[in-house]
Amino acid sequence: MSAFSPIRERSAILLIYTGGTIGMKEDPALGALTPFDFSQILEEVPELGKFAYRIDSHTFSPLIDSSDVEPSLWVELTHLIEAEYDEYDGFVILHGTDTMAYSASVLSFMIEGLTKPVIFTGSQLPIGTPRTDGKENLISAVEIAAAKDDQGHALVPEVCICFDNILMRGNRTSKLNSDNFRAFRSENCPPLAEAGINIRYNTQLIRKPESWTQKPIFHTSLDTRVAILKIHPGITPQVVRDIVCSRDTRAVILETYGAGNAPSKEWFLNIISEAASQGKIIMNVTQCLAGSVNMDIYATGKSLKGAGVVSGYDSTTESALGKLFHILGMHHDNHIAAKLLCEDLRGEISK
Ligand code: ASP
Repeated sequence: MSAFSPIRERSAILLIYTGGTIGMKEDPALGALTPFDFSQILEEVPELGKFAYRIDSHTFSPLIDSSDVEPSLWVELTHLIEAEYDEYDGFVILHGTDTMAYSASVLSFMIEGLTKPVIFTGSQLPIGTPRTDGKENLISAVEIAAAKDDQGHALVPEVCICFDNILMRGNRTSKLNSDNFRAFRSENCPPLAEAGINIRYNTQLIRKPESWTQKPIFHTSLDTRVAILKIHPGITPQVVRDIVCSRDTRAVILETYGAGNAPSKEWFLNIISEAASQGKIIMNVTQCLAGSVNMDIYATGKSLKGAGVVSGYDSTTESALGKLFHILGMHHDNHIAAKLLCEDLRGEISK
């Protein structure tokens, strides 16, 4: 860990840099973007020095473009947070935007009973470029990670994404835009905070731990035998069968239409029923950007329910995937896993 500029020790924040655009800087010699040394972050973002916080940094090695994120990175992050949990009041994870919603989702499940903020952020433009969004994102994330109430409890003890002045629950987010500064959306859950002249917290919505004194449980066992099948007009029986009935999967996320509807053709329902009767979990998540699955409205939804498909409610696909990895990692029995899937574990679904 490298420390810098403790003006007056109030909150201590650990800045974890995993890679991605935010930590890049133009190297004039190479004429290309290269990662800069995060222990020198104060040189790049002198504004951070104005906070009265202690800010230490930890840089992952190797740094990765988030398109290369693997579950091993999530395990490493979870172990790191566990090891440093007592040392810091909050954690800020700098991560590429491409898979940030996946990482924030799964981390929310891997850490149970969180009492401190874990805030992901990144940027669309490198921190070393004139119009960068990275500085603002980083400064807001640090301020939110350090924020406490009158009793000294963290204001946001959740895994979140802070981007473009909006704080979102991590497991409610998806990447929305590849070139706009408003890169993420959280359609089914309002912002947990908004940064304007002041940071306004939506305290009603922010989850609180059952106990502030108990250490969280850090789960690092993940089972990734999950596939995602996006339904589309013209999908063939062969494609559906290959994915849904594959021996290599314990669960399939079906990305369906609207309120959870899929083709009502006999071949389709037969394949789904066959897989479900073999004990496979089939989870229904909508392709819509907002709204929820409700398999009781249309005949096509009802048929899926009848075939043994479980509802993903208003879950994002990223969150459904993280939840499945986590639950399957914890339970070898798919019946138990399927029951847990229907529960709201970390505010990831509205029920
Ligand atoms: N490809 C980059 C990444 O996800 C994009 C970014 O950082 O925004 O790592």
